[in-house]
Amino acid sequence: MLQGYEGSCHCGRIRFRVRADLADLLECNCSVCTKKGILHLIVPPEDFELVQGGEDLATYQFNTNTARHTFCRHCGMHPFYVPRSDPDKISVNARCLDGVDPAALRPTKFFDGRNWEAAQAARRAAESR
Ligand SMILES: [Zn+2]
Repeated sequence: MLQGYEGSCHCGRIRFRVRADLADLLECNCSVCTKKGILHLIVPPEDFELVQGGEDLATYQFNTNTARHTFCRHCGMHPFYVPRSDPDKISVNARCLDGVDPAALRPTKFFDGRNWEAAQAARRAAESR
């Protein structure tokens, strides 16, 4: 069920609102997601609003430079970013939502980001079925 949430980085400079369904929670095993510990909620831009802190965002890019791994330049948290798999969407880090019990965050989807091209092809094939 789509619900409205607010979230932030650790220091609170960056705040956002999102409409998302926690049942769509996705985990990815790529090198950067593994080290970040991010749990993804991938939403269309109309369901995401940056409330404050745009000037506090820094961006890390690597490999194809498609993804924009944004993070707070002060506290280092990664509350959301633009994913390579869906560059027209926003991936919110469910761990940065306010008032959500981390124990209740159970990923239902898995993206094999260590085998990125094969995983993306499989995902596209499943979506077009
Ligand atoms: Zn911060």
